[in-house]
Amino acid sequence: MSEPYQHRARKRFGQNFLHDAGVIHRILRAIHARDSEHLLEIGPGQGALTEGLLGSGAQLDVIELDLDLIPILKAKFADEPRFRLNQGDALKFDFNSLQAAPNSLRVVGNLPYNISTPLIFHLLNNAHLIRDMHFMLQKEVVERMAAGPGGGDWGRLSIMVQYHCQVEHLFNVGPGAFNPPPKVDSAIVRLVPHQVLPHPAKDHRLLERVVREAFNQRRKTLRNTLKALLPASEIEAAGVDGSLRPEQLDLAAFVRLADQLALQPEPTST
Ligand code: SAM
Repeated sequence: MSEPYQHRARKRFGQNFLHDAGVIHRILRAIHARDSEHLLEIGPGQGALTEGLLGSGAQLDVIELDLDLIPILKAKFADEPRFRLNQGDALKFDFNSLQAAPNSLRVVGNLPYNISTPLIFHLLNNAHLIRDMHFMLQKEVVERMAAGPGGGDWGRLSIMVQYHCQVEHLFNVGPGAFNPPPKVDSAIVRLVPHQVLPHPAKDHRLLERVVREAFNQRRKTLRNTLKALLPASEIEAAGVDGSLRPEQLDLAAFVRLADQLALQPEPTST
């Protein structure tokens, strides 16, 4: 008899496959999927989470980039009518193609760490479709997402994720739960998009711009880091003390700065 196909984990696809049944069970319990739901799993790999997700009776779409994994996933799950396999890059995926009702999609993934931040930003652009997200990420990334103002973890990722979502750091997972083991600790995070934004900006792209500019040099005062965008007088007009450093400002203050920027005349092009 022929040997079953052994997939060799590929570094370039960020492949660290979960094999610890206890951890898999804990993740599935945290997600707590039900049969009426529509789930989307990003990077199903060899199906470590997929099987349990399908066991809930929910409809499950998966997006997998690695062509070599497609036959494995087909062999395991193609007979399942609630399973839909999408081959491709989750970073380029059009989530509207899933035809999910607004605020219904539950997104899940043990994400490839090399693309986790851009992927989460891509998902946040589709936040209106999403009910919640559960991700395995590098522990350090989860700490930055869940951080509050005042410390070194507070930055662009914390602010932009918390602008859109409530963030919960659920639990940590050590390298031994994966094959091959990653070099870093991991953690599970739950992100729930706000139904109503607590601090809506006039233009969220301006918020992104102010935050990026402010944290480009996080040791400097706002007056200095924002010089190219807002004069000191406009920072004060937003009710923000320009002598503070960016990490001392909360989300609401960054939104006030972005709204102040929205009032500025467009620079004339030459
Ligand atoms: N879910 C599986 C598990 O827990 O064992 C695999 C997790 S592994 C960390 C990440 C998975 O994402 C791999 O299957 C990898 O091939 C896939 N992947 C990597 N880049 C991707 C991308 N851009 N779009 C979709 N899947 C991707």
